[in-house]
Amino acid sequence: MPILSGEATVVKNAGSHFLLSPLPQWTPFPALLKGKVRLKGSTLTNPVSVGDHVLFSVEVEEGMGLGDVDVLSPAVISEILPRKNYIIRKSTNLSRQSHVIASNIDMAYIIVSLFFPQIKLPFLDRILVTCEVYGVPVTIVLNKVDLYREEAGEYLEDFHRIYESAGYRVMETSVLTGEGIAALREDCRDRVCLLSGESGVGKSSIIKAIDPSLDPKVGEISISHLQGRHTTSLYEMYPIATGGYIIDSPGLRGFGLVDLDPSEIALYFPEMFRLSPKCRFSPCTHTHEPGCAVKEALESGEVSPERYSSYLGMLEKDGKFRVK
Ligand code: GDP
Ligand code: ZN
Repeated sequence: MPILSGEATVVKNAGSHFLLSPLPQWTPFPALLKGKVRLKGSTLTNPVSVGDHVLFSVEVEEGMGLGDVDVLSPAVISEILPRKNYIIRKSTNLSRQSHVIASNIDMAYIIVSLFFPQIKLPFLDRILVTCEVYGVPVTIVLNKVDLYREEAGEYLEDFHRIYESAGYRVMETSVLTGEGIAALREDCRDRVCLLSGESGVGKSSIIKAIDPSLDPKVGEISISHLQGRHTTSLYEMYPIATGGYIIDSPGLRGFGLVDLDPSEIALYFPEMFRLSPKCRFSPCTHTHEPGCAVKEALESGEVSPERYSSYLGMLEKDGKFRVK
């Protein structure tokens, strides 16, 4: 029988088996891993994750194509190609295991709402730091603006000021009025997008608004009900009718947090990282050192007190370094 081989993207990770599709073509076919597959250019063996570009081969009958590959004779993944980025989730148990949950993400959309539920900036900042560490581009999506733009316009302005001055892109959406949805849909086109957000911010509503055929609430996309002990690797990618792909990430906790040495944290606050060459000391923790450009920028308002306070919180929480 003829052997078909090529490169494809992992669009579903069900633990022991996978679905691959030769993106941008959406023709998922089943695949398996045989033994341990090495990540090219790395000495580590890595489990395959959604978003991975892999090499595969499969035997098909004469005249048949990838669309005819079935679960009884799946393709075999022979190699994981180098990842441009990936997000790791740490297990909550004590085994200290971590899993790659998604890779090669073109854009992570962090969905938040200023109110209902009330936003926690330090939490958002931790997520942003995590994305920086992983090298994943991020856009903040401020949803439910219909609920608070009139009544709390100044908070909305503050939010834009804080995050845009730090270097982040902020989009506004309202699923209720439809505002910003077309822009978001357009933004997702031709991209592998990770959508994440704390429960209640409207992530499911946004996904459905972007493409009504994707309905997380009826279980076609959400895998949160499967979030048991053994299902941390169950991630799936969905095609958006107008182009692009969505990976639905169940809750921001899915991001886990990287182990960062306190001295490294400021590298992942873009506004501080930009200023650090101007600090008198190197490295500088931007706390007690004289001639610190970050502290100066804090006084002049160029660095926001909210972001700085999140930074201090991260330093303290990690325990190895205490702010005087
Ligand atoms: P998820 O937990 O993040 O997936 O949130 P859901 O999509 O389930 O939305 C939570 C609640 O917020 C639901 O009652 C939605 O109808 C509501 N909601 C979502 N987006 C908006 C919005 O833009 N404006 C308003 N007013 N309500 C919204
Ligand atoms: Zn400094």
